[in-house]
Amino acid sequence: MRFVREILKDVEGYTPGEQPQGSNLIKLNTNENPYPPAPGVLEALRNLSADALRKYPDPLSVAFRRACAQRYGAPDESWIFAGNGMDELLAMVLRTFVDPGDTVVATYPTYSLYEILCVLHGAKLHYVDLDDDFQLTPDFMSASGRLCFLTRPNAPTGVAAPREAVADFCARFQGIVVIDEAYADFAADTCMDFPDRFDNVIVMRTFSKSFSLAGMRVGTMKAQPQLVREFLKTKDSYNMNAASQAAALAAITDYDHMLASVAKVCATRQRLREALVARGFRVPESQSNFLLAHWNGTPSAKDIFQALSAQQIFVRYFSARRLENALRITIGTDAECDALLAAIDGILGAAK
Ligand SMILES: *Cc1c(COP(=O)(O)O)cnc(C)c1O
Repeated sequence: MRFVREILKDVEGYTPGEQPQGSNLIKLNTNENPYPPAPGVLEALRNLSADALRKYPDPLSVAFRRACAQRYGAPDESWIFAGNGMDELLAMVLRTFVDPGDTVVATYPTYSLYEILCVLHGAKLHYVDLDDDFQLTPDFMSASGRLCFLTRPNAPTGVAAPREAVADFCARFQGIVVIDEAYADFAADTCMDFPDRFDNVIVMRTFSKSFSLAGMRVGTMKAQPQLVREFLKTKDSYNMNAASQAAALAAITDYDHMLASVAKVCATRQRLREALVARGFRVPESQSNFLLAHWNGTPSAKDIFQALSAQQIFVRYFSARRLENALRITIGTDAECDALLAAIDGILGAAK
């Protein structure tokens, strides 16, 4: 393609999990929440006036950012930025703090979008392998770069690095540390207080998982105001539309609804993990809304993934290094997880 930039020649683009169509299927492949968002969200969307659609939305999403500031322990909205899903914020952080040619640090494995964003931006991604238990290594702790993506809890492992180790890293690292807390609402603790004491830390959240709003596209972040100010320069003029601002504000206002839904997911997570371990899978303790289930038997993890897909049960399989013998399973409802276990029993039984 002679018109395209040199950089795009080897880029494949991010491969999202399948979004199969139909009603009689079980979808445990993209870490969506199986429960609906707060009733106030739908009400806020129904109440959008013709005028609200006719006019441009608030370019700074102030009402929503104010609510985030209150919830996330910030003095005011100057500590908060919000956007069209966390993926937009991840791209923006490169645009704002990284020059082409600079080095960006991340663990391996982690969220695969970082790599694509770095390639598109012309940044060099330096992966540092996690250890066999998917924990941070001394090599990671001493890595250097212009920016670091640190996912906590990590994806697709579900493992959360100890808070003290992350704090040590933030104190030592010379560049910006982005702590991707996409799954933090499902975890025992978070790093949302780190921006209070570190001027190089940005903590990011998405409303796609715990708040059941993947379809709305809402992401937010907390950092010191001098960092947030720079985002105001690199943002699209209206990067949150009127509907997502209204929905996001309603969602964070009914925080208890989110907590109740997260509690259900965490209870099911424990039950599903024990059931998978009883069947011979090796499953690290997860602090997120998914499990990474390792399987070294016959049929292979990939065969199991395909046999489940044929039964309209969708989980995620990555053909990447260190993940090729594993399935990433989103926590669904209890009934969905029971159906998954019954299907796995059928597949393993038939192979005996
Ligand atoms: C889902 C996810 C995101 C992105 O969330 P969106 O707000 O839906 O763009 C970012 N990081 C990780 C690790 C995720 O799993």
